[in-house]
Amino acid sequence: MAENKIFTLPKLPYGYGDLEPYISEEQLRIHHQKHHQAYVDKANLLLEKMDKARKENSDLDMKSILKDFSFQLSGHILHSLFWDNIKPGVELNNPLGDLKDAIDKNFGSIQRFKTEFAQAALSVEGSGWAVLTYLAEVERMAIIQIEKHNANILPCLPAILVLDVFEHAYYLDYKNDRARFIEQFWYLVDWEEADKRFLKIVK
Ligand code: MN
Repeated sequence: MAENKIFTLPKLPYGYGDLEPYISEEQLRIHHQKHHQAYVDKANLLLEKMDKARKENSDLDMKSILKDFSFQLSGHILHSLFWDNIKPGVELNNPLGDLKDAIDKNFGSIQRFKTEFAQAALSVEGSGWAVLTYLAEVERMAIIQIEKHNANILPCLPAILVLDVFEHAYYLDYKNDRARFIEQFWYLVDWEEADKRFLKIVK
């Protein structure tokens, strides 16, 4: 039988130093190579543990293992989205095209969206994420807060733009100043990628 496939850490689409001065090389390296890698490793380990128990026909503590699996795997998925929706050389561009129109229609203006998204990110309880999503049934955009990587999540959530506000995303650069990190995030947003994701969702 073929070897089981495993989750892997995606390579960043830019260099570790490329997001400076908004995210330092050291911060980005630790975030990617230590934190994201740990989610990948633990998700793989949990799959292995489940496989082993099935093979031996031994019991699993389903509640505990699935809680852990949801956390680790969601961490992997969200970080992969995050790396791809930021990039160097953006310098405060704003959304264009269909995404801009949709944000204007749903939030009133880009500025209003940015304010709400920043407030959502700032007020996530504990560690978590702000996510711009789309509710297909009512054809509306929505901002949601995800606590940790997996609480408040909507099943089938399509993510247009995500922002990591775990302290591990910014503590070396901004200490405990989450608000300052969020302000700097706008200098890195890859709106082209966000627009691509949006078009894939609504088409
Ligand atoms: Mn993170």
